[in-house]
Amino acid sequence: MKKINLKGMTIEEIETFVNSAGIESYRSRQIFQWMYNKNAVSFNEMTNISKNLRKKLTTLAEIQTLKILRKQESADSGTVKFLFGLPDGEAVESVYIPDQKRRTVCVSSQVGCALGCRFCQTGQMGLKRNLFAWEILDQVLAIERELGVDVTNIVVMGMGEPFQNYENVLRAVELCAHPEGMAIGQRKITISTSGLVPAIRRFTREKRRFKLAVSLNAATDEKRSRLIPINKKYPLAVLLDAVREYLQNSRCRVTFEYVLIAGENDSVEDARRLRRLLKGIRCKINLIPYNPTFPGFRAPDESKTNIFIQELLEFPAPVTLRKSRGSDIDAACGQLFVKNEKCVKIA
Ligand code: SAH
Ligand code: SF4
Repeated sequence: MKKINLKGMTIEEIETFVNSAGIESYRSRQIFQWMYNKNAVSFNEMTNISKNLRKKLTTLAEIQTLKILRKQESADSGTVKFLFGLPDGEAVESVYIPDQKRRTVCVSSQVGCALGCRFCQTGQMGLKRNLFAWEILDQVLAIERELGVDVTNIVVMGMGEPFQNYENVLRAVELCAHPEGMAIGQRKITISTSGLVPAIRRFTREKRRFKLAVSLNAATDEKRSRLIPINKKYPLAVLLDAVREYLQNSRCRVTFEYVLIAGENDSVEDARRLRRLLKGIRCKINLIPYNPTFPGFRAPDESKTNIFIQELLEFPAPVTLRKSRGSDIDAACGQLFVKNEKCVKIA
């Protein structure tokens, strides 16, 4: 008989399962807390459940976990990149990024991505499949287990377009935020989208409280469509309307990510257009120097980057420049890709 995987289930779903096995309802809450709060990977660890019951649970159900295939530590920044094996033989990457204030995990939402942005490694893979909710949230749990840390923040900015796997991603982050589980505050969880307008509207309609980031990367439709083909379907005016609608129902700012690529989107005129485009939108701008993954694409040099930033400084919203952390291990979010060389094998 195939065992039921409880990881990824809500308390109510676990309750339905325990009831069907003739077990009292209150056990569901205990199992939930063990799985998500205490990070248990087997029923045997659940010491407030009797031995007999643990045995019964083991015959009926399981708690799936991701397998660490590789782990790479950055020489200087404390950043650690993981390659996780999935039960069907696929693999995804996640990154642990610590700083003075936060311990952040960047998680993947899909194996590959269908959207084919020109500068993005994951996009070149095409879409293999969506991740299940448990495969998304166990990236966080597996990193906590392996490194013995308490993760404080999550960014859904790894491989894949989270809003093309809307239900599983939202289920996963709701579970990560659950007060009886990992209890990571909703405002400490950011979902990054390349601009899937119907999903942004759904996110607004459902009054989700997670933070939203939109990968803008260009300030005109012509340039954006060249870099991000989905822009042809949902051009800037439509995208920004959906963002404005989201902001009407949220007290947070939206983050616009802007990957700086030399010769593509890094001129003074680009910066001016960006300023004009975002005028009146409650936002912050996160500039990300392009991490060279394709020949022909590179980040602008420091002086050009500074000129771009100067041009934006008149803008009332905060502008940040993402430091390249862990770039020695290709750990910058959004350019995760299975690279076999340069890896430390631990399993
Ligand atoms: N699909 C989502 C989330 C994953 S990509 C999205 O597009 O937002 C996360 C971020 O990484 C995006 O802002 C993307 O523009 C950026 N990115 C992709 N490749 C990159 C690279 N080589 N260097 C720097 N940023 C990159
Ligand atoms: Fe997909 Fe995001 Fe990469 Fe575009 S940038 S191909 S949406 S992962």
